[in-house]
Amino acid sequence: MHEYSIVEALISRVAEEAEARGAAGVSRLYVKIGALSGVEPDLLASAYELFSERTICAGAELRIERVEERWACSGCGRAVERGAALVCPECARPARLVQGDEIVLERIEMEVP
Ligand SMILES: [Zn+2]
Repeated sequence: MHEYSIVEALISRVAEEAEARGAAGVSRLYVKIGALSGVEPDLLASAYELFSERTICAGAELRIERVEERWACSGCGRAVERGAALVCPECARPARLVQGDEIVLERIEMEVP
């Protein structure tokens, strides 16, 4: 399952950060998940519950913020509504994704002695 490899990467990233800062533990993680990232927040949360056991993240809360998709014109930058055609109503250029495909570890709350 896709979510498991993401959680694995997430936890090893947190472990690195915690080690670099000499943290005794981790209390909370903040993750942003784009609507188009292909990640299901519920699945990510349950994968995290399983995988975080016996890691530095054990007992740490995972906060998931869902990020809606947003498109803008690749020419003039005007926001484009997601509709039948993802093209700019002004200049007819294709829209590009501004946000919505990200998987970002935004913040880690650590216990530093
Ligand atoms: Zn345009």
